[in-house]
Amino acid sequence: MKKFILDATKDSLNEWAKDNGLPSFRAAQIYTWISKGIIDPDQMTNIPKDLKTRLSQDFDMNGMTVVTELRSKLDGTTKYVYKMSDGNIVETVVMRYKTGLSVCISSQAGCKMGCSFCASAKLGFGRNLTCGEMLGQVILSQKLMGEKIRTVVVMGIGEPFDNYDELLKFLSVANDPEGLGLGARHITVSTCGLIPKIKEFTELKSQVNLAISLHAPNDELRKELMPVASAYGISELIDACKEYVRKTGRRITFEYSLLDGVNDTLACADDLIRLLKGMNCHVNLIAANEFPGSPYRRSGKKRIEVFMNRLVSGGINATLRREMGTDIMAACGQLRRGMEENK
Ligand code: SF4
Repeated sequence: MKKFILDATKDSLNEWAKDNGLPSFRAAQIYTWISKGIIDPDQMTNIPKDLKTRLSQDFDMNGMTVVTELRSKLDGTTKYVYKMSDGNIVETVVMRYKTGLSVCISSQAGCKMGCSFCASAKLGFGRNLTCGEMLGQVILSQKLMGEKIRTVVVMGIGEPFDNYDELLKFLSVANDPEGLGLGARHITVSTCGLIPKIKEFTELKSQVNLAISLHAPNDELRKELMPVASAYGISELIDACKEYVRKTGRRITFEYSLLDGVNDTLACADDLIRLLKGMNCHVNLIAANEFPGSPYRRSGKKRIEVFMNRLVSGGINATLRREMGTDIMAACGQLRRGMEENK
């Protein structure tokens, strides 16, 4: 099987150029084109015809195509559905903020983690995405929007730390000035709490932001919502987060989706205060997004307000995330994977 062109690194293109008796500046030209989202050789205007033919012979130049584009009438959020060459389909969401465009990308086709409030878990796991397929979501979305993407969040379908090696490759190219050229602080990775990988990530001392999908303040409730909690207890998870903050000097974010009558009580807020008090962290509250077949309802406005106020008065830095793209099923927890026939 041919390698997807976006999985070609600077080094591997140099190697390929050398093997084909080409000067290294040709590899640099190709890398510049693909970093700009131009993966059709015919559009690579400074490349000779025979080299375009050789590129197409040696690489998969159509590894990802957009099959659906949905734009929210509420806020302009855009959801792209991308099809990979093996038929797997993932979703990518572009949101507009005052600071510019932000893209939420998927790291896997499907997810093994099985969180009960998340649509992405419902269709099971397909496979890990390659670094090129993660880059492709940014590059192609940027091209389709006709505007530079300013921030990237790896919070779409999948658990990024379950695809750790490809994730690290992606972060390196995303951060490379000759790649996507995004500052590390403009990139956020979210995990449901795979502690060994949190520890590895801590040791990298990366400036990339880390977010933890917490969603419950104690083991009992967390196990109900997130199977991963049976493998990794909450106190060990919080210890790993404290270690991350201590070693990197970075603030950590906790994502907390509010489910009506489940995790939005004042007792839960108090447990959360006890858990996080004193840590350099931010709690991102999310009015849980409903999807067909979900057993949960979102918390009402009043309950959310009371919960948030309790956290803030308990000394926790907490805000409510602005909802985006709910009318096109593009909000947190609403993304789904598919195969070609499901689109
Ligand atoms: S919340 Fe994240 S980790 Fe949990 S099932 Fe959904 S995509 Fe997977």
